[in-house]
Order: sequence, then structure tokens, then C-alpha cells
Amino acid sequence: MKLLDVQELDSRLDRLRHQLATIPEATALAELMRGRSDVDDAARDLRVAVADLTEEQKRADADVEQVKARRERDQGMVDAGSISDPKALQRMLGELESLQRRISDLEDVEIDVMERLETAQAELEHREAALAKIDREAEALERTRADRAREIETDLEKVLAERQAGASGLPDDLMALYEKLRASKGGTGAAALRRRECEGCRLTLNASDLAVIAAKPVDEVVRCEECDRILVRTSESGL
Ligand SMILES: [Zn+2]
Repeated sequence: MKLLDVQELDSRLDRLRHQLATIPEATALAELMRGRSDVDDAARDLRVAVADLTEEQKRADADVEQVKARRERDQGMVDAGSISDPKALQRMLGELESLQRRISDLEDVEIDVMERLETAQAELEHREAALAKIDREAEALERTRADRAREIETDLEKVLAERQAGASGLPDDLMALYEKLRASKGGTGAAALRRRECEGCRLTLNASDLAVIAAKPVDEVVRCEECDRILVRTSESGL
């Protein structure tokens, strides 16, 4: 295998790694999960509110029941005619009136708590439905993401094996130089010389540069004057 073939495989590997790192469904999933955490926070707050309001409603019900029981008892005494003293009876009737007002106030509280509880419950249901919808979407995105990742990883393994087998036949010092250049020059360490042009930096070589290159032994490593990359001579170099 030639150095240019290794370069081509390395470029393919770079593209595959980039694809793996930028699967659109992974980005969409991350975005979705950020949104989910806001909805989840809101749902958690609402669950606390519903629990608090449920307790508050129980207390409000108990308050009403307690005052009603007292009114029943007092009314019972009045109805039975067991209060013979007119002043005591007058006081009792006054108390019954104030108990009635108290009941009416407590019932207002009860209704208010019930309304707030119903609102919180409806909001909570709404948020929980939204969470369930997000979770279904997330599941679908994750399935697609995993499928794509698996496909890319399969390609990566295949190309990597091909590349390793190919590079093993090339001299170590050439490969070391190539790797160093690849690291510092955007992934391209070796470029073809085609139609008198360096395909690494697109510089067109002049006649005297070409003559110098043409005079060198085929196994000597030629570097581009402009970009420093390894310049690989081909049948179409124009030498
Ligand atoms: Zn160049």
C-alpha cells in the first residue's frame, strides 16, 4: 500500500469519527433532555403543592365539621327546650348565629383550598403528560442514535483494520514524519503532486522546482516547499 492510500483511509477515519461525535439525534436528545429537566422540576414542585393542599383541605374539612357539630349540639339543646332561662337562651341563640357565620367563613376557606388543589392537580397532570411525551420522543431518538452509532462504528473498525494492515508495509521513519505532519496540518500529512500542483495546499510548482523533484530518486521523501507536507509523486504529476 502507498502512503497516499493510507492518507485516504486516515481521512476517511477522521470523517467517520467526526460523524460519530456529531450524530444529529444525539444533539437533539441532549436538547430534549435539557427541556425535560425544566418540566420535571415543575412537576416535582406541583407534587409537593398537591400534597400540601390535600393536607390543607383535610384540615379545612375537619374545621367545618367541628363547628357544625357544635352548632348541632347547641341547636339540639334549643330545640329540646332544655334552656329555660330567657337570658341563657338569648346567649345561646346569639352563639348559634355566630357559629353559622363561622361555618360560612370556614366553608369559603374550604372552597378556596379545593379550587387551588384542583388547579394544581390539573397542572400536574399536564406536566406529567408532557414528561411522558418527552420520554417517548427520547426513546425514539436514542434508538436512532444508537443505530447510527453502530453503523459508523462498524465502518470505523473496517477502515481501521484496512489502514493498519496497509501502513504496516511502510517505513517507520516515513510513517512517523507523516503522523507528525498530519497532527499539525489539519489531518493531511501527505499530498499528491498532480498536474504540477500540490494537492495539500494547491500550490502550482514551477518548472525548476519540478525539475529538482524529477531528479530525485523515487524512494526519497519529497516535501512541498509551501506547506511542508510529504509530496507524493504520481503518474499524473506532470514531471
Ligand atoms: Zn503544499
